[in-house]
Amino acid sequence: MRKPFAITLDPGSSLANHTGTWRTLRPEYVDRLPPCNSACPAGENIQGWLYHAESGDYEAAWRLLTQDNPLPAVMGRVCYHPCETSCNRAQLDSAVGINSVERFLGDEALRQGWKFDAPSAPSGKRVLVVGAGPSGLSAAYHLARLGHAVEIHEAGPVAGGMMRFGIPKYRLPRDVLEAEIRRLLELGVTLKLNAKVANILETMRGGAFDAAFLAVGAHIAKRAYIPAGSAAKVLDALSVLRSMEGEEKPLLGRRVVVYGGGNTALDVARTAKRLGAEDAVIVYRRTREKMPAHDSEVEEALQEGVLIKWLSTIKQAAESSITVEKMVLDAKGNPQPTGELETLAADSVVLALGQDVDLSLLDGVPGLEMRDGTVQVGANMMTGHAGIFAGGDMVPAERTVTVAVGHGKKAARHIDAWLRGAVYAPPPKHEPATFEQINTWYYSDAPKTVRPVLDGVRRQSTFDEVVRGLDESNALYEARRCLSCGNCFECDNCYGVCPDNAVIKLGPGKRFQFNFDYCKGCGICVAECPCGAIKMVPEEI
Ligand SMILES: Cc1cc2nc3c(=O)[nH]c(=O)nc-3n(C[C@H](O)[C@H](O)[C@H](O)COP(=O)(O)OP(=O)(O)OC[C@H]3O[C@@H](n4cnc5c(N)ncnc54)[C@H](O)[C@@H]3O)c2cc1C
Ligand code: SF4
Ligand code: SF4
Ligand code: SF4
Repeated sequence: MRKPFAITLDPGSSLANHTGTWRTLRPEYVDRLPPCNSACPAGENIQGWLYHAESGDYEAAWRLLTQDNPLPAVMGRVCYHPCETSCNRAQLDSAVGINSVERFLGDEALRQGWKFDAPSAPSGKRVLVVGAGPSGLSAAYHLARLGHAVEIHEAGPVAGGMMRFGIPKYRLPRDVLEAEIRRLLELGVTLKLNAKVANILETMRGGAFDAAFLAVGAHIAKRAYIPAGSAAKVLDALSVLRSMEGEEKPLLGRRVVVYGGGNTALDVARTAKRLGAEDAVIVYRRTREKMPAHDSEVEEALQEGVLIKWLSTIKQAAESSITVEKMVLDAKGNPQPTGELETLAADSVVLALGQDVDLSLLDGVPGLEMRDGTVQVGANMMTGHAGIFAGGDMVPAERTVTVAVGHGKKAARHIDAWLRGAVYAPPPKHEPATFEQINTWYYSDAPKTVRPVLDGVRRQSTFDEVVRGLDESNALYEARRCLSCGNCFECDNCYGVCPDNAVIKLGPGKRFQFNFDYCKGCGICVAECPCGAIKMVPEEI
């Protein structure tokens, strides 16, 4: 399959020239690690699945993608796509829309009803997974595919964790989430709902489990001391978002103040707007540059009419108003009080100040190390207690769905090895594919596709999905923008430019090899490879 966006040369235009052995350097075909792949917390082989997608084989693309991540339709909606931040194409024009192609593949798989391949032969081992959030689900998926009998114990009434009870519907429609979870469970994973694990060792003993993966997330809302009159309505963000999943929607009033600067604060404020609040005001003690929330979410919230009061803290809450104090940033960038006060009308105050982990299920387990309210794990995701592994929000790491999914995969590989009395050794990493190795002139201009969004009026009044997917032609176009950094895509350039016909073509999918009887080590192939898939190495003497 030729890349339509790469300009290629006619092969075989020079005569063979048997040169003998006066080379000091010889060319070598290499595979390098593209930056997108190394930045994806789930370790997806992005370039590999984009390659299938650009040839129109969406099922092959989806199958390759789901070897690492079982939730592409979810990822294509909620992942903050660090892969795109690292994409080499960003230095040329703009990053490949990896996330939108991932969503297209995820949605296409749901439309077509593609299923995962059956698991390997049963291993005879039983693994307990605690928590059916993204980390637990990912671990269960990978463990089941490796042939282990997996039982998930979930405290709540439905699976999904924060994907269900945190992320609002307008960013992640529930039918998409449910369909991806259902397909995963069809691998033979047992899901026990309303089954909170109170003591991990007892549950493991009771169910004769050989190992456990814990992924209980971080669900205890942090509180701040705010003097509040008895009539003041102070709620926490997680309870508000959770109640959106039930019959009774939260009563927040016409003027809602949200306290905090993370993504949760934005989700609550945007939810309040959709519930009919005239004013949804976020009070945050630092500046926009210092806000932990992702910029795209801040932008979307502002477009929907959410107001943000920067450099402010809440001093006091009363029945229908709050008092805020203006802050300034000191030399170290920390907010300091000014004593300058202001009153804002507020029917309710929602605290979105972060979450702590409920580690009570680990009480009395020997060997564990806790730090800053999280459980410590080694490079193999195992806690200090043999056979108990952990991941996701309950271990020290960035708290995102994709990191949680990556932990689940990594832990599953180590659990699998541990159950066999072995140690999992990840394959050695290829050297990185840098932008400097790309010959950009071979690629045509191709600006990034813009994803369609729901119109402003409907965004403020409904929970319909805001960001829409790409259609097939746009997804195909976007996949073709990939530069195939560091890996041969069979453009035939090396074959065409070699003055000594020293490049042997092995056939579609088999790439090329050098005929060193003819190669004189001129390095033209290296200079003319668009994507840095050939390097010169010292000649062996
Ligand atoms: C409002 C909000 C919006 C977010 N938006 C995004 C986003 O857009 N993109 C993104 O990447 N990340 C987002 N995040 C972060 C992301 O949701 C989390 O990092 C991720 O869900 C963590 O996954 P997890 O599996 O570790 O835990 P969770 O998703 O929290 O799942 C843990 C599960 O364990 C269950 N459980 C807890 N205790 C027990 C027990 N003792 N026994 C049995 N089950 C138990 C819980 O009921 C829950 O289902 C958001 C978070 C919030 C709060
Ligand atoms: S999961 Fe996120 S980081 Fe990984 S490829 Fe998808 S969008 Fe990129
Ligand atoms: S151009 Fe393609 S291979 Fe290179 S970093 Fe971007 S997505 Fe990855
Ligand atoms: S090695 Fe480079 S120049 Fe040769 S076919 Fe592959 S991508 Fe093209």
